[in-house]
Amino acid sequence: MSRIAYVDGVYRPHREAAVHIEDRGYQFADGVYEVIAVRAGKLVDEALHFTRLHRSLAELRIAGALADAPLKFVMREIVRRNGILNGIVYLQITRGAAPREHAFPKAARPVVVVTARRSRAPDPNLARDGVSVITIPDIRWQRCDIKSVALVANVLGKQQAREAGAYEAWQVDARGRVTEGTSTNAWIVTLDNAVVTRAADSAILNGVTRQALIEIIHREGCRFEERPFTVAEAKSAREAFLTSTTADLLPVVAIDGQPIANGEPGSLSEMLRSAYLTHISESA
Ligand code: PMP
Repeated sequence: MSRIAYVDGVYRPHREAAVHIEDRGYQFADGVYEVIAVRAGKLVDEALHFTRLHRSLAELRIAGALADAPLKFVMREIVRRNGILNGIVYLQITRGAAPREHAFPKAARPVVVVTARRSRAPDPNLARDGVSVITIPDIRWQRCDIKSVALVANVLGKQQAREAGAYEAWQVDARGRVTEGTSTNAWIVTLDNAVVTRAADSAILNGVTRQALIEIIHREGCRFEERPFTVAEAKSAREAFLTSTTADLLPVVAIDGQPIANGEPGSLSEMLRSAYLTHISESA
C-alpha cells in the first residue's frame, strides 16, 4: 500500500507531498506538532494530545487552523488510508506560507500536515536491558513547554548521545538540574522509593506519556514527587527511566557511563512500564 499524506487540505501520495518553500515552518520553525501513538488502529490519549496542541497554538498565537472535529477526521482517515494498526500519527501546524518577514504575515493561513507510519518493531533489548544516557548542557530556549518544531538543539543533543553510544542525552540547566531528554521526559526513583520528575514548568515539554504515567503512579499508590533533581542525585538514585510516546517507558541503567544501582532495570520501573503498556492498550 503506498503512503498517503494530508497536506493543506489535500490527500497526496507521500513522495509527492510538499509545502511551499516560504512556509514559515521551513524558514522560521514557526509551527507546532504532535506525535500520537496508534494501537490497534486507534489513537492513544488523543484528548491529552489535543489539549497540549491547543496550548502550543495559543502560546504561538497561531489561529484559524482546522477545527478539532475535521482534524480528528483527517487523522483517522490518514490512519485508515495508510492501513496503520500500530504506529504513529504526525501532525504539524505552521503559521503558513508568506514572503519572508519575521513579524506575523497578515495574509497567511495555517498549513496543516498529517502523516502516519508503522512502528518499526521495538528492540526488545531496550526494555529488557535498559538504556544509557549522557548528560549535556541544556542550550534550548526558555519555552520548552511549547511543542514547537524548533528542535535543532534537541537534534544536536540526540546526535551527541548517538556518537557517545548512548540512547538519550539528559539536558541539564544552569543549576545542575536535569530538565529532560532531547525527545523524552526524565525520571528517577529515590532510595526511599519516591518516583521523581520535574514539574511541568517552561523548561520541559509536558509529555503525554508523563501525564498518563502520573495518573498511574497515583492509582498504584506510589510516592510521587514533582520536583527537579540534579545529575548527582540521579547518579546515586535507586532507579531511573525515561518516557515518551515513541519509547513508552524505558529503564535507564547508566548515566555518563556510571551504572545506576546494580546497572539493571529497577523493579518499580518495570512495574510502571507494564502498567503503562496496559494503559495504552486500554486507551486505544
Ligand atoms: N520532551 C521532549 C523534548 C520531547 O520532544 C518529547 C516527545 N515529543 C517528550 C518530552 C515526551 O513527550 P510525549 O510523552 O508526549 O511523547
